[in-house]
Amino acid sequence: MSKVMNVAIDGPAGAGKSTIAKRAAKELGYIYVDTGAMYRGMAYHMVEKGIDLLDENAVSEEAKKVHITISYQNGEQVVLVNDQNVNGVIRTPEVSAAASKVSAYPVVRACLLDLQKEMAKKNSVLMDGRDIGTVVLPNADVKIFLTASAEIRGKRRYEEMIQRGEKAELSEIIQDVIKRDEQDMNRKTAPLKQAWDAVLVDSSYMTIDEVVQTIVDLVQKKEMA
Ligand code: C5P
Repeated sequence: MSKVMNVAIDGPAGAGKSTIAKRAAKELGYIYVDTGAMYRGMAYHMVEKGIDLLDENAVSEEAKKVHITISYQNGEQVVLVNDQNVNGVIRTPEVSAAASKVSAYPVVRACLLDLQKEMAKKNSVLMDGRDIGTVVLPNADVKIFLTASAEIRGKRRYEEMIQRGEKAELSEIIQDVIKRDEQDMNRKTAPLKQAWDAVLVDSSYMTIDEVVQTIVDLVQKKEMA
């Protein structure tokens, strides 16, 4: 049997991680694990329950009670919160902002860490998030830090929302991206940062195909090593 390979992709909001990671995983025959969706599932649950997101104790107590798991349907990752599929409701700006808040709490992170580590132990995975190369999979075979300028990332998010038929204001979205970057980079637990051994890929002026190919090439080189 071939070796289990772990690929970590980290980077700020809107760098294109999920689109790119999904496609690269498919080409490599690996499982794509979207850890942001797990934090979003957690955040959605807190909002639904009416929990004050600034109350760390209340959020932490609830995080210990809620059951978050993932499964795969037709190759798509599905996040289950207490067995309920939440994929359709976790991509709103409200849940994005809430995820950034609750993910700063160590108890919330601890609740999701085992699930993430377990996935990578058994399967060849391409896992994306903020702390994959630094905390979740420090021994990953390949680490990538994928970034792009805040303006370009905001514009991409904006276009996605318009395509989904949602209302959006470009300047507001760029501000949201910058705010989320600040929160993610400055938190005490598992902040967003490039692992020392990660390859930096700036996608600002690259096409999706080019970024996917760059990642696939890096992984295949490692597979053959
Ligand atoms: O990647 P995505 O935008 O879906 O992530 C939503 C939020 O979840 C991020 O802004 C970040 O605060 C948090 N997150 C995290 N650690 C990860 C993945 C996501 O803190 N590994």
